Amino acid sequence: PYDVLVVGGGPAGASAAVYAARKGIRTGIVAERFGGQILDTASIENFISVKHTEGPRLAANLEEHVKEYNVDVMNLQRAKRLEKKDLIEIELENGAVLKSKTVILSTGARWRNIGVPGEQEFRNKGVAYCPHCDGPLFEGKHVAVVGGGNSGVEAAIDLAGIVKHVTVLEYADQLKADSVLQDRLHSLPNVTVIKNAQTKEITGTDSVNGISYIDRESGEEQHVELQGVFVQIGLVPNTDWLGETVERNRVGEIVIDNRGATNVPGVFAAGDCTTAPYKQIIISMGSGATASLGAFDYLVRN
Ligand code: FAD
Repeated sequence: PYDVLVVGGGPAGASAAVYAARKGIRTGIVAERFGGQILDTASIENFISVKHTEGPRLAANLEEHVKEYNVDVMNLQRAKRLEKKDLIEIELENGAVLKSKTVILSTGARWRNIGVPGEQEFRNKGVAYCPHCDGPLFEGKHVAVVGGGNSGVEAAIDLAGIVKHVTVLEYADQLKADSVLQDRLHSLPNVTVIKNAQTKEITGTDSVNGISYIDRESGEEQHVELQGVFVQIGLVPNTDWLGETVERNRVGEIVIDNRGATNVPGVFAAGDCTTAPYKQIIISMGSGATASLGAFDYLVRN
């Protein structure tokens, strides 16, 4: 069996694997797609000490770093079941069952898409999902935020300090964000809120030049000219496969303590799939290191 088996090969999983392998213990990593979300990221400018990189390049660097060590890398393999017996078992889609004394879950998350024309075509060409990451690219421009929940309204407040104008599009007849956030939003001079707006299409040529929506009250189609669209309708953790085996919160995030431990002894978790409040590369890597050291500590004590 493995001492540490990492499930997920994004920044959190890669970091966990390196930390485990450096303890000289038997380490494996299973990933559906090694690299994770950063494979879909164009430019990265907030991975501190690296002023600028591109997602695929960072993913290649992660893989190179992991392969410096004696780690079993099982790429293009999806885990479908976890079971705690004497050892912890991870069953893969291909039927194989891997056994380990500890497991680190780092299966990440995915942004919920609106699913309208233009969203995929203009991804990284005006369509963005992360205001902390891409906000500065829209300095002085007009952007929309789709979604009026807490994350949408937080994004709009954040962006209003950088861009020229923010238009918030909310499907329902009222914003769903906490009232303190709504008050802050309404106090800003360069924000417009449009309710009852059903996004229909993100338009553009080489990059985004506008957004069309249907006014759900009048049924009429409207178009706003702008250069960026931030989609903020939810981040979904990749944890459904765990079912009831590991405690998850209301939105499906794995509940961890400050050592990355879950409610199941020997099972740890890190990164975007957990209750960690902010989802970023640098934070995922830190939590991967924490979970790995937590797992090592557990092995020493058991
Ligand atoms: P992920 O990167 O999601 O990796 C999860 C891993 O688990 C993947 O290997 C996946 O294939 C695997 N996996 C999932 N389910 C299974 C399963 N059942 N079995 C086996 N493997 C599985 N952050 C920044 O800090 N700066 C940025 O500029 C930035 N830009 C971004 C731009 C975009 C378009 C997106 C989508 C995100 C961006 N982020 C950015 C956020 C950042 O990418 C994430 O916070 C980070 O990748 C999370 O790392 P993670 O390892 O927790 O999860």
